[in-house]
Order: sequence, then structure tokens, then C-alpha cells
Amino acid sequence: MTVRPVAQALRDAGLRPTRQRLSVLQSLRDRPDAVTAQDLHAELRGAGASIGLTTVYRTLTALADAGLLDVFTRDSEQAFRRCGTVHHHHLVCETCNKVEELSAAEVEDWVHHAADRHGFEVTGHRADIFGICSECR
Ligand SMILES: [Zn+2]
Ligand SMILES: [Zn+2]
Repeated sequence: MTVRPVAQALRDAGLRPTRQRLSVLQSLRDRPDAVTAQDLHAELRGAGASIGLTTVYRTLTALADAGLLDVFTRDSEQAFRRCGTVHHHHLVCETCNKVEELSAAEVEDWVHHAADRHGFEVTGHRADIFGICSECR
């Protein structure tokens, strides 16, 4: 795997592909779980990277602000995940932090139906499902 698509994703989001951003985004790619700054920092350090926790945190936040990462809050801690770019919802495992993406279609019908009934015009919605994944059960 090359580093190119990751750098391109950063540029497309209007971010300069710095070494830290590349390495953080690279390590989140193809990863099924959402990860906290602390855990990611420990992993990067374990892999020999010299990067501070504050830098990891700032980098994750910047990537999330740019729309490159989805943010999950758990026990008042934030966890980050590189999801697909198409609108989707999440199934979140509370044991292993694995996140599965749900296609929007299933939820969209319900959103519009519920909004219609209450005379709401929909401007956005969030729908994540929390539970225990099939591997953890
Ligand atoms: Zn997502
Ligand atoms: Zn699980």
C-alpha cells in the first residue's frame, strides 16, 4: 500500500499532508474500531514513532474537523474512526469498540416519516446503534 491515497484525502479536505497527519490517518485506515488519542498514541509509540500525546490528540481533532474522521463519545472520552465517505450510520460495539457502517437507506425512511408526522423539515440526523458485536457476544 502506498501513502498516496492518504495524502490525497488530506489535500482534498484542505489539509496539508504533514508527517503527523499522514501517520495518524494511515494507522486509522482499514481499522474496524474507533480509537482514542491515548490508545493511538501508545500504539504509535510502540511502533517506534516519536509523537507526543498532545500532537496525536490535535491531529485527530483536526482530521475530524475536516470531515476525515467520525467521532464517537464514550465514557466522556472521544474515539475516532476513518469511515467511508458516503453518508452512513453506525453499529458500535461497546466491548471492543468495533464500528460497522450501516447504509443510510434503512434509517432514512424512518427519519422522514417521523419528521413528516411532526411537521418537521429535516436538516440533518444522527442514528448510531450501540451494543455488543457478534464476536464479543
Ligand atoms: Zn462513520
Ligand atoms: Zn465487539
